[in-house]
Amino acid sequence: MADVILNGIKKSFGANLIVKGVDLHVKQGEFLVMVGPSGCGKTTLLRLIAGLEQVDAGEVRIGETRVNDVPPRDRDVAMVFQSYALYPHMTVRENLAFGLSLRKLPSAEIASRVEEVAGMLELSHLLERKPKALSGGQRQRVAMGRAIVRRPKVFLFDEPLSNLDTALRVQMRGELARLHRRLGATMIYVTHDQVEAMTLATRVAVFNGGVLQQVGPPLELYHRPANRFVAGFLGSPSMNFLEARRDGANLVGKGFTLLCPPDLSPETSRVLVGLRPQDLRVAPLGPLSGTVDAVERLGFDGYAFVTTEAGPVAARFDKGTQVSVGDRVTLSPVADALHLFTEDGARALR
Ligand code: ATP
Repeated sequence: MADVILNGIKKSFGANLIVKGVDLHVKQGEFLVMVGPSGCGKTTLLRLIAGLEQVDAGEVRIGETRVNDVPPRDRDVAMVFQSYALYPHMTVRENLAFGLSLRKLPSAEIASRVEEVAGMLELSHLLERKPKALSGGQRQRVAMGRAIVRRPKVFLFDEPLSNLDTALRVQMRGELARLHRRLGATMIYVTHDQVEAMTLATRVAVFNGGVLQQVGPPLELYHRPANRFVAGFLGSPSMNFLEARRDGANLVGKGFTLLCPPDLSPETSRVLVGLRPQDLRVAPLGPLSGTVDAVERLGFDGYAFVTTEAGPVAARFDKGTQVSVGDRVTLSPVADALHLFTEDGARALR
């Protein structure tokens, strides 16, 4: 087990700078989840850590060792991909053992490691089967097993559950969390799934355009996003953003007036107000008003998508509230729910 340290990592493909100077310290035993829009460089970062790509600038350290010039097989990391290629002509047992045989481990050692991992992943009864006789979830467990038998210092996961159906994903998510607790290994995990990120991560790292935007425990990022990008990226539906100016004790925007939080610095005149849809209720006499464009009912409650003078916003409504497309409604923020950002969204103000 080991820390993974990235210092000033840069990587270009041709003329395109893809990773733009990333500093990140993943601590031993952490489950760090990387999220960000498609193309922001997450997979590239994993491949740089694994040694499948070379950095153009900066340093990759695994434990005490600078690994920039260390070939992938000597970095002691294991990568599990979205498309897990098992050897079709080999049984599960042979698939699990293959990497260890290549490393010329004694056969008794190989056999005991394979049995142990098969037990851990509930594959013991499937050891003599070929991959084509396994379900998607079982195949994915074999792919993970192949990484685990190697006992690497660091696990790298690139969207390992994205090919599974919803039920299997939920099951595998639980298994991954248990595995992490049991192995205590350093894990770096790329996903598009916010639920995976929020539930598996000890810390989440949010990237945009090859730049690390913020890293921290999932709830810290959710409740105290560092900038507009992070605020808008985490949470569903996305946070609402409204331009406003300060007017005495109020924040005034197009068609609305909100009470200004007292902790906003007096020098600030223009802000971007952020309000999560969960913190904005369809309710009588609210300070924002508009027309309902669409309604999503989730059973107990739902979301109304409302066009206001200040722009489109999403707001929650409770079971008892009647909301239909075309209705004029007013919206009311719950107490102390306002996020405030600089006008350009680059920085949170509270
Ligand atoms: P996704 O979430 O869609 O998997 P990502 O954040 O993992 O995206 P990367 O796969 O790291 O993004 O790719 C980042 C950018 O680098 C993309 O624009 C991609 O086209 C480009 N890229 C990646 N690998 C190469 C390569 N070998 N040659 C040229 N361009 C590449």
